[in-house]
Amino acid sequence: MNRRSTLVLTLAAALLTGALPATAEEACPNPKDALGVSRIVEIDAKSGPLYGGFTKFDKEPRFLGPKEVVLTFDDGPLPKYTKPILEALDKYCTKATFFYVGTMAQAYPDMVKEVMARGHTMGTHTWSHPLNLRALSVERATDQIERGFAAVAMAAGQPIAPFFRFPGLSDSNPLLAHLQERGVAAFTVDVVSNDSYIGSPSRLVARTIAQVEHHNGGIVLFHDIKASTAAAIPTILAELKKRGFKVVHLRSKTNFEPLPALTAELEAKRLAAEAKKGNKQAAATDKKLVPFYAPIAVSTLEAKSEPEVTVLEPTAKERVHAGGTHATASQPVAAPAAVTDGAVATPAAAAPHSAKKQARKRHKNPDLDPTSLSGAIGGRW
Ligand SMILES: [Zn+2]
Repeated sequence: MNRRSTLVLTLAAALLTGALPATAEEACPNPKDALGVSRIVEIDAKSGPLYGGFTKFDKEPRFLGPKEVVLTFDDGPLPKYTKPILEALDKYCTKATFFYVGTMAQAYPDMVKEVMARGHTMGTHTWSHPLNLRALSVERATDQIERGFAAVAMAAGQPIAPFFRFPGLSDSNPLLAHLQERGVAAFTVDVVSNDSYIGSPSRLVARTIAQVEHHNGGIVLFHDIKASTAAAIPTILAELKKRGFKVVHLRSKTNFEPLPALTAELEAKRLAAEAKKGNKQAAATDKKLVPFYAPIAVSTLEAKSEPEVTVLEPTAKERVHAGGTHATASQPVAAPAAVTDGAVATPAAAAPHSAKKQARKRHKNPDLDPTSLSGAIGGRW
């Protein structure tokens, strides 16, 4: 029996035994008591906008109102933790945006498909999560971005959103300019759960809620590769509901178009790996499976009771290419008040030339810059 019939049988069995939620209602047992989705923000990414507070670069104004949050999960998928997080999101009838890493998506393609089948939005987070893209040449950093998109789209087997988050929030002008050229929206964060460092679920709940309250909502960063996050999410969602927070769900007006050469290269590698595993047939048939899988949840949700939709069509900001190096700041912007000491040095205002030199020096060594998030916290984001 080949892989296709095995999977069809599994899906059928799951539907019969009720393992998979057949309708949105079943996925959302009591909408009245759940967190839900209060608003959908549909973003037209073609101008390469940048959203969120943690950045020094020109960004879009905050689109979230008081007590509105966007739930985001990075670095996955990792089924062991992604799955319980999906169950919790379903239980509270709410949606999130996932920024997936190419190598992880290639390792767990079915999990990527399941995240999308449950109505969540899929973005990316580079091919192999280098801690600081600014430490790479612009060419290598751009390849990391494009390869990540191609790999996640391939694993999803369907179009994904042109949404990207820099690992370690290590953005730079040439890379933002590249995203602009490619019609990709970049998302930094407003609220850091710090689940990368907090192992205790109860401490993670306390920290996250305190930060969400402090910022009065915002784009919240979690990682669906963490045990503490999987354990804490149900309580965090219940707490957000109790405190009157509302979830805003992001979606894209357009789909991302991966570079065909990269898709072909990754596909060839995948086939070779499959062939090596002695599974010659599988690859060609896999693709046909997706239409059977994907449309179930999404369309039902929308047909039933779509929340209010806000469409954002930002205009392009000027991004300085700076001759192929990562010039850091076209002009410095204060980081969100909650986390910085406010003592932002702004050499750029003084002498443009030496400011660029300064900026390049600072870009190569974020520790020189007190406002540099990755410098201040470091580690894997
Ligand atoms: Zn990350």
